[in-house]
Amino acid sequence: MIFGATGDLAKRKLFPSLYRLYQKGKLSERFAVVGVARRALSNEEFQLSVKESIEAASDKNGNHDEFISHFHYHSHDVTDSSSYLSLKQMASDLDSHYGLGGNRIFYLAMAPEFFGTIAEHLKADGLTDVAGFKRLVIEKPFGHDVESAKQLNKQIRNAFSEDEIYRIDHYLGKEMVQNIEVIRFANAIFEPLWNNRYISNIQLTSSEVLGVEERGRYYETSGALRDMVQNHMLQMVALLAMEPPIRLTTEEIRSEKVKVLRAMRPLEGDAVNEHFVRGQYGKGKIDEEEVPAYRDEPMVDPSSNTETFVAGKLLIDNFRWAGVPIYIRTGKRMETKSTKIVIQFKDIPMNLYYQSEQTLNPNLLVIHIQPGEGISLYLNAKKSGQNVEATPVKLNFANKGIDGINTPEAYEKLLFDCMRGDATNFTHWDEVALSWSFVDKISEVWESEKAENFPNYESGTMGPREADQLLEKDGFFWWPVT
Ligand code: NAD
Repeated sequence: MIFGATGDLAKRKLFPSLYRLYQKGKLSERFAVVGVARRALSNEEFQLSVKESIEAASDKNGNHDEFISHFHYHSHDVTDSSSYLSLKQMASDLDSHYGLGGNRIFYLAMAPEFFGTIAEHLKADGLTDVAGFKRLVIEKPFGHDVESAKQLNKQIRNAFSEDEIYRIDHYLGKEMVQNIEVIRFANAIFEPLWNNRYISNIQLTSSEVLGVEERGRYYETSGALRDMVQNHMLQMVALLAMEPPIRLTTEEIRSEKVKVLRAMRPLEGDAVNEHFVRGQYGKGKIDEEEVPAYRDEPMVDPSSNTETFVAGKLLIDNFRWAGVPIYIRTGKRMETKSTKIVIQFKDIPMNLYYQSEQTLNPNLLVIHIQPGEGISLYLNAKKSGQNVEATPVKLNFANKGIDGINTPEAYEKLLFDCMRGDATNFTHWDEVALSWSFVDKISEVWESEKAENFPNYESGTMGPREADQLLEKDGFFWWPVT
């Protein structure tokens, strides 16, 4: 059951992902999709919109008729108690028709203010009384701060147990994010070095070229800290820094991630502005075109205090990571669209290859997450020629190149995981609560002090100068690796 089936997410991501699973034979023939949304549509109109979305996403010529015949529509206002009963009837008719054994997934592809209400109605009106499994898939944002997240969690936990709740973080569906774990735990050459004895610092960047676009109203209540750091950035930090789990089960992996979040040094008061930098884009040029400042975007307050950029220094107070700064930065209207992680190793104890003041480059391991997926390792090797001189070399592995297999869309993987009942790549409540608690302290300071220097970076750049200074203070700089 997809709540919000006429929305953008359903059309651009969910229907095409379901179709790809179907094509690959990963969906059984015995399935039905109930689209729920406010608009009055017939089944035929809904099926046509599903067909259009599949065609727009990929496949123009395939035979979609069999696939779309599994789609049914229920016009329903989620705030109206009376319409849940007819939805229940429809679901149980489809259950008998397709022989579904009472297995149900409820996907909430709607604005978050409805999440709690829907979950409560699903229980109260008996839609969750099923003979098979019941699962709830819930989109971000999960709350606005720790208190609202707790409130929401309480509402949904009335209807679903923790192991029936699948909180989406679409970064966790990305192939290369899942690969972090494999790179670390399947290679003898990395894991022994993965600690404060050999790593000098870690840098995570997730930059976007796009501005806020049509999402000004939502973004004004969120900002980069809530939109990106609380979820995606901290999830990547947890995967990078966790201890090897004793087994690759959902519980074991989650419990190691939770420990990282617990060990993250909390920031309060003055420490916030010492460790974190906020930015907001001004006008500038992207691909030779003038683009407006954030404050001139639609639905944005002309004196907005909302940050469109965040850079921060995280410290993890445990044996493995004590003293290793983990720098993160994310923002809109930056120079390039890129998500990548740079692991900088410590300098070797003595350099035999000094060349006229030039020191050796440190070894770097770069994990490219998007747009290109892959790994690069920067080493030093001998420069060809008579002299013994060192020169940096880059070993590259690009994921896309292999057998022409394109990386599956994150949603396809996540939907498949949910159908199989594997919650590893979804966020557990403990992770949500811990990351909100960390981020809330920063929001408190930033919301109480207006940023006098906004806008403080030009569109089309890598963010404000203060983000560079954050690393310079520690003797580092952001690696401009591509
Ligand atoms: P949208 O505004 O395009 O769609 C909202 C849907 O909800 C529509 O189908 C609408 O009919 C339905 N709806 C609204 N009020 C209703 C009501 N009272 N009763 C019944 N149906 C109602 O939103 P979207 O972009 O598809 O996003 C949905 C969720 O997914 C949000 O939580 C968003 O943050 C999240 N999300 C979206 C994307 C994306 O790519 N669009 C990416 C990540 C997360």
